[in-house]
Order: sequence, then C-alpha cells, then structure tokens
Amino acid sequence: MRIEDYAPIAGADAVESLRAEAERLKGRRVLHINSTFIGGGVAELLKAIVPMMGALGLKAEWNIITGDDEFFNATKSFHNALHGTPVTITEGMIRSYEETNRRNAKELDLSADCLFIHDPQPAMLIESRKGGFWVWRCHIDISSPTDAVWSYLSRHVRKYDAAVVHIPEYAKPDLGIPQHVIPPSIDPLSEKNIDLPKDYIESILRKYDLDPELPIITQVSRFDRLKDPVGVFKAFRQVKESVGLLDFREAFTRDRYVVDVFRTLRERSLIQLVLVGGSATDDPEGYRVYKEVLGKAISDRNVFVLMLPPDAHREINAIQRGSTILIQKSLREGFGLTVTEGMWKGKAVIGGMTGGIAHQIRDGETGFLVRSVNEAAERILYLLRNPKERERLGAAAKEHVRRNYLVTRHVRDYLRVIGDGVSANPIPN
Ligand code: UDP
Repeated sequence: MRIEDYAPIAGADAVESLRAEAERLKGRRVLHINSTFIGGGVAELLKAIVPMMGALGLKAEWNIITGDDEFFNATKSFHNALHGTPVTITEGMIRSYEETNRRNAKELDLSADCLFIHDPQPAMLIESRKGGFWVWRCHIDISSPTDAVWSYLSRHVRKYDAAVVHIPEYAKPDLGIPQHVIPPSIDPLSEKNIDLPKDYIESILRKYDLDPELPIITQVSRFDRLKDPVGVFKAFRQVKESVGLLDFREAFTRDRYVVDVFRTLRERSLIQLVLVGGSATDDPEGYRVYKEVLGKAISDRNVFVLMLPPDAHREINAIQRGSTILIQKSLREGFGLTVTEGMWKGKAVIGGMTGGIAHQIRDGETGFLVRSVNEAAERILYLLRNPKERERLGAAAKEHVRRNYLVTRHVRDYLRVIGDGVSANPIPN
C-alpha cells in the first residue's frame, strides 16, 4: 500500500492531514482484535485500516479470538439482542462467552500501546489488560438494546479507556467513559471497490447466468434476517406485478390490448433480482437463512440467490457495478458498508431507514430510504423507469462517499484517538 496513491481520490489535503497525524505515533504498536479474518464488515474494514496504519509508520497488527460453535451461537444472540431483537440469554451462553474470552486472553499477546477491541465477541478481554490504551470499537446499533444483554456487556465496556461508535445516536450516556463518533469507510483501491473494465463486469454477470442487457436489482449481504432478504424478494415480486399492471392500464387506454399485454408479460420476466451473500465464520445463522431465502426464490426464474466464497471481492465489485439498482433493505444496520460500496460505484442505492444507512443516504439526494416492502417496491419501480434519476442520485452518492467515507478519513480519526490516549497514558516503547 502506498499512501500517496490515495491523493488523487481523497485529495492532497486529506492525505497530508493523515500523515501529520501519524507523525507523532511512528513506531507505536497498535493491535486490533475481532472474531474473524474473513466475511462481514469488520474484516472488510480491518483489511484496509491495518495496512494503512503500517504504511504510515505504526506497528499495526490484527489478531482474532477463536471459539467453538457454542461461543459463536452465544455471541450471535448477543449481537441480535444488542440490535433490539428479543432473545433469551442463558447461563450457558454467558459461561461459554467468559470461558472463551479467558482462554483467548491467555493465548493472545495483549501487549501494545493501543488496543482496538471490535464488537462484543472479544469485549471481555479487557478483564486481562496488562497495560496500554484500550478502545472498544462497536460496529452495532446499540441505541435500543435488549436490557439484559447490554447491562451484562456494559460491565466489561465500562472498563475500557474509550469507546468508538458509528453515529451519535449509538453513544451511551451512562457508560462513563469517553466516546467518539467515527463512521466507517471503504478503501477505494481495494478489490471490492477499484474500477473494473466493462468486459470483466459483463463476464462475471454472464458467469452467474445474468443478462447484462437487462435491468438488475441487487442486494449484497450476509444471509441474516436483519438484512431482510425476504423483504427484498417480496418487493421484487411486487415490482414484477406492477410492471404488468401499469403497462396493462396504458395498453388498455391506447386500445392496443393484445400486443401490449404480450409486451408487459415479457417485461415482467426481464427484470432480474440478485441476492448475493457469503458467510462469515463468526455468523452461524448464515446457512439457515440462505436455505430459507432459496426456498422462497426457487420458483422464480428471475431471482438469483448466489452464495459466493467470502473472498470473492472482485466478483462482488463486478456485480455491484453491473447492477441497475442496489438495495440494502436492512431492518437494523450498524452502518451498512454495502451501501457505501454501492454509492461509491455511482449507483442509486435504496436503503432501509435505519442506523448508519439513514446517515449515509439523504433521502432523494444521495439515494432513497424506505420503511417497508411497499416503499421499496415503489422506489425500485420509479428508478427502473427513470434512468436520469439513477444518474443524478448515483453521482451525488459517489461525491458524498468521497467526502465522508473513505479510509483516509477513517484512519486519521483513529490516529487522533490513539494519539490522545497514548499521550494521556505514556507507555515506553
Ligand atoms: N460481503 C462480501 N460477500 C458477501 C456479502 C458481503 O464480501 O457475500 C461484504 C460486503 O461487500 C461488505 C461487508 O461484507 O464489505 C458487509 O458489511 P456491512 O457493513 O454491509 O454488513 P455486516 O456484514 O458487517 O453486518
């Protein structure tokens, strides 16, 4: 990675302020710990952030905690509960969580000037701190969690030196530690986001039996109920019906009944829906949800449910770029990197009105926000019929990401947190 490569994209000033921030931290050890190297947004972020910190002269490292199925089932329940889903947390889950964290604390080298501990899975490592500045980095919408889980987890989080959340609404006044609002970012030079040749994009679409000449509506997501893949499917079915109905009405008034009914029937089968989702090693629910979605979609030959390997970044990039409309109809969403990725590709993105999505998309300016299947269907139909609107929203979306959600800004914000922490707690190198 070369920091100067980001200047033409993010701007020379952005790169300059990043370097200036890094100057006083050269040689400092920064350790990030989460629960998976592959799959999901946190791994996607760390893949960019850790090398960038290294290129700026810090000693940046990334490690993960390991656990068995019982542990990851427990932490997925914590995750859902923090997002507000009613979930019963058993004593067995807590035991598995604590034993796994204690074992990992013994196995991992936790000595660093600054530690970023990501999400609930490794949060209890704080109990084994020996030194350094500890930051809990939360990637979840914790604005209205299930009480029992938050009161348990916050006991650990309170012991951190600071916490970082995505948007102001996630800050917790009762935590009693400094909290920083730092939204995530994308790496414009990564496999996931780099520009791609048209030929390659088309070859990937054809590889998955998609027709590049016809409209494609895509949601890229882990198969997770909170991402509402079934809601996307229902919206798509509604759109297919509406294409027929609206055109039928037009046809009737124009008295070209038979010809146009045939045309509308053809049109109905000409839009394509793609639900692309990989799995993440720390998400045990993925396969179950995938099977559910597949069960619903199997009878519709216009719906493509694709389970890709978690490292299929270039292919996902191609599918996003080859799509006419991108959707992320989440019911709850910490931030929604797939939204940022779609916006960066100059696409019109339709997002569920929740969490970080509602911060990224300014409704009607940089995309559309929706609260229901009906609204999603209406917006899809509107965008299918208005290519100019797709262009307008896509261009504004790209600029919004360029100004606010690139990795250069994200790393600079982290360096400020590290700098404040390290100077407040000087640690010998
Ligand atoms: N992703 C992927 N393959 C998939 C599904 C998702 O590479 O099949 C990536 C996606 O491009 C994005 C990240 O995983 O970079 C998901 O991040 P997001 O914040 O949208 O959701 P999370 O999975 O963290 O809840």
